[in-house]
Amino acid sequence: MNRGKQLYEGKAKILYETDDPEVLLQYFKDDATAFNAQKRGTIVDKGVCNNRISAALFTYLEGKGVRTHFVKQVDDRSMLVKRVAIVPLEVTIRNITAGGMSRLLGIEEGIVLTPPVFEWHYKSDALGDPLINDDHILSQGWATAQELARIRSESFKVNDALKAFFNERKIDLVDFKLEFGRFKGTILLADEISPDTMRLWEHGTRTKLDKDRFRRDLGDVEAAYKEVLRRVLGEKSQAVGAAQ
Ligand code: 5GP
Repeated sequence: MNRGKQLYEGKAKILYETDDPEVLLQYFKDDATAFNAQKRGTIVDKGVCNNRISAALFTYLEGKGVRTHFVKQVDDRSMLVKRVAIVPLEVTIRNITAGGMSRLLGIEEGIVLTPPVFEWHYKSDALGDPLINDDHILSQGWATAQELARIRSESFKVNDALKAFFNERKIDLVDFKLEFGRFKGTILLADEISPDTMRLWEHGTRTKLDKDRFRRDLGDVEAAYKEVLRRVLGEKSQAVGAAQ
């Protein structure tokens, strides 16, 4: 599949057209941003880790009955994805308090949430992805009630599957962000699933293995992404060396 015209460049990825009008190539960069792009940097090999982690997690989730935009991994930094129209919403599911929820409600980090907390955010860099509810979405026509129900149930399916997946790898899934797209009348899980979009704490020690290491200048950022890749790939992890 030849890489065609660049369609879009985001903070962490570039989308290119391909020979197939229904398929795009999603390329993962090493660029890192935080706090609505006020903090910028580079995490060496982040693009390689996030591409491989996302490919593995999309494949796993497809096996659990979640429909995703993932087609196949092409090389170390790119994957083919279905050309969806992104719904302008970000879903967050939280299993343990951290980040935005701790700030919003003045709650310390690390408290287990039962049941998990589901949030809608409006996808807008200019507004800082504000927290919204169903009525905001319906009144603005960003999605239909049927789409919201579908996205919500798919998101909880993702949470159940990923919690179990990471639990087996001695990692606590603290929270994560998902994006969905429309493709031929159906809703597909889109974007990426990686340490950029999830909080992952080592079970027991609660060592952070995600982008909070970059956001909060905790050091060992590259090592954390590589450790997640190693645990995600498991038996196939000999290839991690190739991430150099
Ligand atoms: P929080 O709302 O606590 O900042 O984020 C909750 C979870 O969603 C975290 O795992 C965080 O990494 C992810 N997340 C929320 N918004 C964004 C975003 O705009 N970009 C990325 N990459 N991740 C996000």
